Amino acid sequence: MRDIFLYKADPVRGAEWARLFARHAPHLDFRIWPATGAPFADAAEEARVRFLAAWQPPADLAALPNLELIFSVGAGVDQLDFSTLPPHVPLLRMVEPGIVGGMVEYVSLAVLAIHRDWQSYAARQRARQWQAIRVLPAASRRVGVLGLGSLAQAALAQLRAFGFACAGWSRSQHTIAGVDCYAGAQALPAFLARCDILVCLLPLTPATRGILNAELFAALPRGAALINTGRGGHLVQDDLLAALDSGQLAHAVLDVCEPEPPGPEHPFWDHPRITLTPHVASMTQPEMAVEVVLDNLRRHAEGLPLQGLVDRGRGY
Ligand code: NDP
Repeated sequence: MRDIFLYKADPVRGAEWARLFARHAPHLDFRIWPATGAPFADAAEEARVRFLAAWQPPADLAALPNLELIFSVGAGVDQLDFSTLPPHVPLLRMVEPGIVGGMVEYVSLAVLAIHRDWQSYAARQRARQWQAIRVLPAASRRVGVLGLGSLAQAALAQLRAFGFACAGWSRSQHTIAGVDCYAGAQALPAFLARCDILVCLLPLTPATRGILNAELFAALPRGAALINTGRGGHLVQDDLLAALDSGQLAHAVLDVCEPEPPGPEHPFWDHPRITLTPHVASMTQPEMAVEVVLDNLRRHAEGLPLQGLVDRGRGY
C-alpha cells in the first residue's frame, strides 16, 4: 500500500499538485481533502497518511497517527495554531523561487513607484497638468527593510542593483554586502531614522504584531513612505491614517490587510495616499512548490536537514 500525501488547501491549485505528483512521485497516493464527505474510508487509510500540505490542517490531527511532516502551502505560518499541531512532527513553510521572484517584483515596483512619484503623476495627468517633479538619484533614496529573511534579502539585492541606499533590520545580526544591517529592538530607532522608504517583510508573530504603529512612524524621517508586504496584523490601521493625515507619512502601499478583504466602508479603499492590492505580492507556483516539497521528502528520507523548517518557539 502506498503512503498517502494529503493536500488540504485551494482545490484548483490542488489539482495541479495532483498532476505533478502523478508525474514526479507516483509512489505516493496523493489525496485532496474533499469539500464534503469523509476524507478516508477507515482507520487503516488514516494510518497511511504520512505527509500533509495545508493552509489550515484538519481539526483532528490525532486521527492521523503516522504523520511525519506538515507543509504550510504559504511562506508564512501565522495562519496556524501551533497548539493544534503534534509537537513531534516537523512543520515546514513554503520557500520556493516563485514566491521569491514575485516578491522581488512587487517590492521593486512599489519602491520605484514611490521613488519616481508615480502616484503624483497619475493625479497630475487627471488634472491635465504637465508638471515635473525633480528626479533624485536612487543613491540618495534610503530604503530599509524590516526583516532580513529569504524574501527581504532577495528584494534588497534587486534594490541595490537599482542603486538605492539599502538597510535591513532583523532579530539576529546579519552581514550582507551593500546593506547596512541592524539587529534587535535597541537598533530599531537608528534604522528607522535612515528610512525614506520602509518595507515590512517580517513574519507575523506575537513579537511583531502591531509593529507598524505611531511610535515607529514617528521615528521615520518626515514624509517617509511605507510598503507592507508582510501581514495585515503588523499594521495599526488608525495609526497609519493619523500619520498620513499629519504628513508624517507621505504614502503607503499595502498588499495585506486585517481582515482580508477589508469591509466595503473601510477607509483604505479610497484613501488618496494609500495604494491597496489584494495580497498578491507573490504567490506559490505549483510546479516549483511541488519540486521543493519532493526535495524535502527526499531529504527527510535521507535524514538530511529540511528546507523551510519552522522554529515554533520563535514563531517563524
Ligand atoms: P524568513 O523567516 O526567511 O525571515 C524572517 C525575517 O524576519 C528574519 O530576518 C528574522 O530575523 C526577522 N524577524 C522575525 N521576527 C523578528 C523580530 N521580532 N524582530 C526583528 N526581526 C525579526 O521569512 P521570509 O522572508 O520568507 O518571509 C517573510 C514574511 O513575508 C512571511 O512570514 C509572510 O508573512 C510574508 N509574505 C507575504 C507574501 C505576500 O504575498 N504579501 C508572500 C510571502 C510571504 P532573523 O534573521 O534574525 O531570524
